[in-house]
Amino acid sequence: MKKIAFFDAKPYDEICFDKIKNNYDFQIKYFESKLNEDTAHMAKGYDAVCAFVNDKINDKCAEILHELNIKAIALRCAGFNNVDMKSCLGKIKVMRVPAYSPYAVAEHAMALILTLNRKTNKAYIRTRDFNFSLNGLLGFDLHSKTVGIVGTGKIGRVFSDICKGFKMNVLGYDIYADENSGINYVSFDELCEKSDIISLHCPLSEQTKHIINKDSIAKMKDGVMIINTSRGGLINSKDLLEAIKNKKVGAAGLDVYEEESDLFFEDFSDATVKDDLLLSLVSMPNVIVTSHQAFFTKEALENIAKTTLDNLSDYFSGRELKNEVLLK
Ligand code: NAD
Repeated sequence: MKKIAFFDAKPYDEICFDKIKNNYDFQIKYFESKLNEDTAHMAKGYDAVCAFVNDKINDKCAEILHELNIKAIALRCAGFNNVDMKSCLGKIKVMRVPAYSPYAVAEHAMALILTLNRKTNKAYIRTRDFNFSLNGLLGFDLHSKTVGIVGTGKIGRVFSDICKGFKMNVLGYDIYADENSGINYVSFDELCEKSDIISLHCPLSEQTKHIINKDSIAKMKDGVMIINTSRGGLINSKDLLEAIKNKKVGAAGLDVYEEESDLFFEDFSDATVKDDLLLSLVSMPNVIVTSHQAFFTKEALENIAKTTLDNLSDYFSGRELKNEVLLK
């Protein structure tokens, strides 16, 4: 029986993985700690590790795992920007869950838009206090507005369909435009200039890091709404905050944040958060921050558990690795 060290384990992970683990020949040990260079030693005696979005598998961490004879990392997420792939090359196989529910993420992006626009979060609090005033709750029709989608892969496409359901005009920017997608492709600059709402659905890479910065924001419409359910590093948060303060950006919905790794998924309600930038963003009336919850649906969790264990099973049985992350 192969032993799996499962890092950054939450109760909901344990429920989903325990439900199906008897279909596989694995013994899973759940660790609450995140996997990083300080905790990698905990994988001693295990055959593989299972990691999530905010585990940091840098060169040092990969080296320790290699020394411990760990030959497989099963990421239970799609993105792999948190893994130093060069350090794993030829030593450790890295597998991921490329798609578990594009609907979960795309629907959350729309939830952020609807909440920011119609301010249902504020209305809920008001009416519980019997404050039935409408002042400050004015929104706009999404119908006929232009939404710009950066990254039109699995999630971007579903999001496009949702927006089309609202009869919005959809513009797309992608390095691989798919002309059969029914999306009207434009340059990134044109997307910035024409969109009332911009939603990010591309991966974080050297090319996309801080794609939203003071220069790209300057090209956008006054009052633009920016939605990020992809990766925090796509946005220069300092530039975004500045643009929110000077009202260039009308609203922002952030499910991810560049410095989220030590904060998101944990409860700091009784502690002091020291990240001034995040404190400022959270305190803005036209910003909603959610803690990387876009993926968090029942269907997505079930798919993540099954694909992760299938990936490990493929690895240990010597079968072809369908979901291996390969260096390009
Ligand atoms: P995907 O691979 O299907 O699509 C990504 C698209 O981005 C592709 O079409 C690709 O060509 C495009 N792209 C790549 N580089 C680009 C660039 N430089 N400029 C413009 N477009 C570029 O991925 P997906 O399943 O749609 O997921 C998208 C992203 O969503 C993931 O990379 C991940 O970071 C994020 N995500 C977030 C959550 C969450 O819970 N918040 C969950 C899952 C995925």
